[in-house]
Amino acid sequence: AEVDPNAPIKIQSYKLADISASERVALLKRPALKSAAIQELVRPILAAVKERGDAALLELTEKFDKAKLSTPMVQPPFATEAVMKRIKPEVKRAMDQAYANIHAFHLAQKRTGGNAKAADVGSGGVVAETGEEEEDAVLEVETMPGVVCRRFARPIERVGLYVPGGTAVLPSTALMLGVPAQVAKCPVRIIATPPRPDGSIAPEVLYAAHLVGATAILAAGGAQAVGALAYGTDAVPKVDKICGPGNQFVTAAKLLVQNDMDACVSIDMPAGPSEVLVIADATSNPDFVASDLLSQAEHGPDSQVVLVAIDLTDAQLDAIETAIDRQAKALPRCAYVRQAIEKSVTIRVPNREEAMRWSNDYAPEHLIIQTDRPEELAKATINAGSIFVGQWSPESCGDYASGTNHSLPTNAFARQYSGVNTDTFVKRITSQSLTADGLRALGPHVVHLAECEDLEAHANAVRLRLKALEKQ
Ligand code: NAD
Repeated sequence: AEVDPNAPIKIQSYKLADISASERVALLKRPALKSAAIQELVRPILAAVKERGDAALLELTEKFDKAKLSTPMVQPPFATEAVMKRIKPEVKRAMDQAYANIHAFHLAQKRTGGNAKAADVGSGGVVAETGEEEEDAVLEVETMPGVVCRRFARPIERVGLYVPGGTAVLPSTALMLGVPAQVAKCPVRIIATPPRPDGSIAPEVLYAAHLVGATAILAAGGAQAVGALAYGTDAVPKVDKICGPGNQFVTAAKLLVQNDMDACVSIDMPAGPSEVLVIADATSNPDFVASDLLSQAEHGPDSQVVLVAIDLTDAQLDAIETAIDRQAKALPRCAYVRQAIEKSVTIRVPNREEAMRWSNDYAPEHLIIQTDRPEELAKATINAGSIFVGQWSPESCGDYASGTNHSLPTNAFARQYSGVNTDTFVKRITSQSLTADGLRALGPHVVHLAECEDLEAHANAVRLRLKALEKQ
């Protein structure tokens, strides 16, 4: 049905005191997605790529992306002179600044280890990690005399980085995934992105691939790209982990391959439509609050925005609502915004404690705090993907260039998942080395535990060594 373009664009608002316990649960939920139906569309696509490899991949690329390719892979160099001529200089400079900031923040995340003895371990069992940030961390703890335990990181060898490309060009996502994989030193880093109908990849994505040192680009999108990365084809190397956002076909495919033992592949996190929760109070600038809500709402009709308003008068809330309506109607993506706003809510709460309680229960992907003393509320945050603290920190800065990552957990998964970061691209190996004295001291305990669990061979592996030591 035609929507009257002049119809008001207004978020439904609720007073906390009027919300029942069951309403609270419903209001904290995200709009439902048709994930079962999408999975049924995605299954045959994955099966086709698994069985028929490149032939299926190229057919599906022609079907969905209208591009007829002879090979799905694009090899470096990516930033050729011809490519660079098609990028506006100001965009190149902006990408260079974003790259520098994202690189600095993700390099600093490399865990580093010191050598800690048992005595250095605090009462909580936590060992300070110190040392050269560039170098691989070795965490070392002598848990008892002669028993040394270590933990160290190794890059995941082959990673696939999905950069969406169906409806927009997203070089920022190529940086957000590519930089931590580069910093983690993953040897094989393949950016997958749908080609344009003429078969080419957007120049900005090629430049991002150059900056992050991608080893190759897979010119394919959707479930077929995920399938090719998970199973490998003649042309596409199989990867060990697939990261990155995408539409519901991409998300469904990631979840399915993760559960396929044949693929032996992991994913970064389950992804859903983007969302933001903004906390505002009487000190907030209504135009700033409205602009942040709308910058999320324009992502797509499934996006959700939540405004938590602390102790606002009707007139103060009205100022925000008026700004939303006015700014939204001037946006080119107003139709998306209207649909997203229809699914969104304002919760009016009496104080800062209730605001944080709502926010932590909702576990937003993006949390924007535009209040008096915003740092205090940031400290009180338990669940959120990334926080934007204070009126001069719009979400857009984190989306593109401040240095933090924009691949973040949605759909309340901020309760247990972190956003993409340098750790996403490594796994940690532990080791232990016992001296003869170490085994003398620990061995008898291990024998008792093995006997208690009826694992005689385990007990024997210790007993015969203890016997050998008696003879020494
Ligand atoms: P996309 O690259 O995710 O998907 C394009 C692919 O979808 C096509 O190549 C095609 O293979 C597949 N497809 C389309 N219609 C299909 C159908 N009917 N059946 C099977 N497959 C089909 O690009 P997009 O569609 O533009 O979606 C981008 C998504 O990424 C959006 O949902 C956006 O919100 C999200 N995004 C999220 C973040 C984040 O950090 N959270 C960042 C950027 C983008």
